[in-house]
Amino acid sequence: MAGSEKAKDLGKADRDIVALGIATASIILFAATGGQVVPDAVLSIMGKGVGPDKLLANAMLLNIVLLVFGWRRYRELTDEIAERRKAEERARRLAEIDPLTGCLNRRSMAERTAELCDKAAASNRAVAYAMIDLDDFKRINDMNGHAAGDEMLLQIARRLQQCLPENALLARLGGDEFAIVTVFDPAHREQIDDLISRIYDATCTLGASSGSAIGATLSIGVAAIENGALPQDSQINVQTLMHHADIAMYHSKKQGKDRYSWFEPSMVSELRLRHELEASVRYGIAAGEFVPYYEQQIDLETGELVGFEMLARWESPKLGLTLPEVFIPIAEEMGVIGDLSEGLMIQAFSDARQWDPALTLSVNISPVQLRDPWFAEKLLKLLVMHNFPPQRLEIEITESCMLENVAMVRSMIENLRTQGIKISLDDFGAGYSTLEQLRALPFDRLKIDRSFIAEVRSPHSSTKIVDAIVSLGNGLKLPMTAEGIEDEHILERLKSMGNLKGQGYYYGHPETAAQVHERLTRSGRLATIGPVIVPVQDHIDEVQSLTASGGA
Ligand code: C2E
Ligand code: MG
Ligand code: MG
Repeated sequence: MAGSEKAKDLGKADRDIVALGIATASIILFAATGGQVVPDAVLSIMGKGVGPDKLLANAMLLNIVLLVFGWRRYRELTDEIAERRKAEERARRLAEIDPLTGCLNRRSMAERTAELCDKAAASNRAVAYAMIDLDDFKRINDMNGHAAGDEMLLQIARRLQQCLPENALLARLGGDEFAIVTVFDPAHREQIDDLISRIYDATCTLGASSGSAIGATLSIGVAAIENGALPQDSQINVQTLMHHADIAMYHSKKQGKDRYSWFEPSMVSELRLRHELEASVRYGIAAGEFVPYYEQQIDLETGELVGFEMLARWESPKLGLTLPEVFIPIAEEMGVIGDLSEGLMIQAFSDARQWDPALTLSVNISPVQLRDPWFAEKLLKLLVMHNFPPQRLEIEITESCMLENVAMVRSMIENLRTQGIKISLDDFGAGYSTLEQLRALPFDRLKIDRSFIAEVRSPHSSTKIVDAIVSLGNGLKLPMTAEGIEDEHILERLKSMGNLKGQGYYYGHPETAAQVHERLTRSGRLATIGPVIVPVQDHIDEVQSLTASGGA
């Protein structure tokens, strides 16, 4: 029942009690009997009469008792009604606010926004709706615990509240999503830009002050209804406003997070495309459209082929052959990167089993996969199921994994190394690793990012950075691979720097499994004996006992 109907019922109850309980039953009767009994009693006291009729006197006494009883009942009922009113008010407030932050919730925000839109329309003002989403909140929660996550949400709510203009509303729509709605002068959109900058100023120190290892940033989308553009139904209005702000917020995320965007109609088609792309990725994984390509890895000194790096490609029926920079981030965001990677690895293990067993296979692992505490177990199980020797496998992780829970990544790396898998730090120098973190994680190899290698291309360019990285690697006793060797000149300069491995277009572009097979046939480097068949059950038992012994 709606709150206002309940209040009406209570009012009715109020009136029923007064009318029935007291007025009719007692007062009228008291007046009737009292009118007779009291004068007779007074005359009798004065010695002028025989006194009141006994029956009437008793009836009057009964009336007095009834009056007292009725009054008490009335008081009880009015107290009860007051209590019920309070409880209902409390329930109504609870239904309207978010219990953690005390902000409005999604439902009440929609109602209040509709009211605000109506008022704004009447006074020729505009309404702006800002959708505010905390970036990477799941990671903050995972790394610092849910209590710290809650604390951060509370802090955001407080700081947003401090930025609010008069009459503006703040809501927590759920999870890490907040919204602000406010009226503004349509001739001065910059009022909203100012509000957003105040929000960024107020929240820029969020991560640090709540003790989070990760900075907390916000992605914001803003949509507005200018005056005169308000259709009849303010509910539809509000839905559109919220939807547009959501699309704009999503756009901010796609542009790299920690920024705000005003809604623009072109964003709708952008979003539709994105949804289509997501659906295609999902379908493509199931349909086996993602295939491994292989890039040669060479010992620079001897020029000998030592292994291959597997690089994912999407043979998309719509887009053609598509590079990982397009689909890996989408698969990461959709939470399907684990499935995608597993499918590719299974194909790669099967391809690589046909190669000379001395050739290694490197695979790239996304930081998102490393967040899975069972990643090491899953990988070992995959190796066992597909009869691939762990000693031939190298996994490449990028420096962004250093932003993850370093203790967890270290134990995972140690677990994998115990099984013979090698771990390389990919794109070294392009990311965030500090020397301290580099020392903390037991890598087997550094891969020098190709942006540094490109610097040694011209004969007169300085090789100082690459020299420094090479001596750092030597100091840490880490073997190194140079990425992006595009010509002979780069190769010669790198060769003079020490014993490195290398890869790049100079040796060839990434090739399909069939092309690699042909290449190895030509150079006589296919597996000569049939692949070693290891009894699968033995290995599954081994992995299970490893997991049971606390491998995680
Ligand atoms: P990466 O692991 O650093 O791979 C090397 C990238 O450099 C590859 O791009 C390769 O084609 C390119 N490359 C190799 N030699 C040269 C060269 O001489 N010059 C230039 N300009 N580029 C060269 P690709 O295949 O587009 O892969 C890009 C990135 O995508 C990879 O960088 C890796 O981080 C990621 N990636 C690829 N496959 C996977 C995968 O299966 N899973 C995950 N999580 N990431 C993958
Ligand atoms: Mg790589
Ligand atoms: Mg790389």
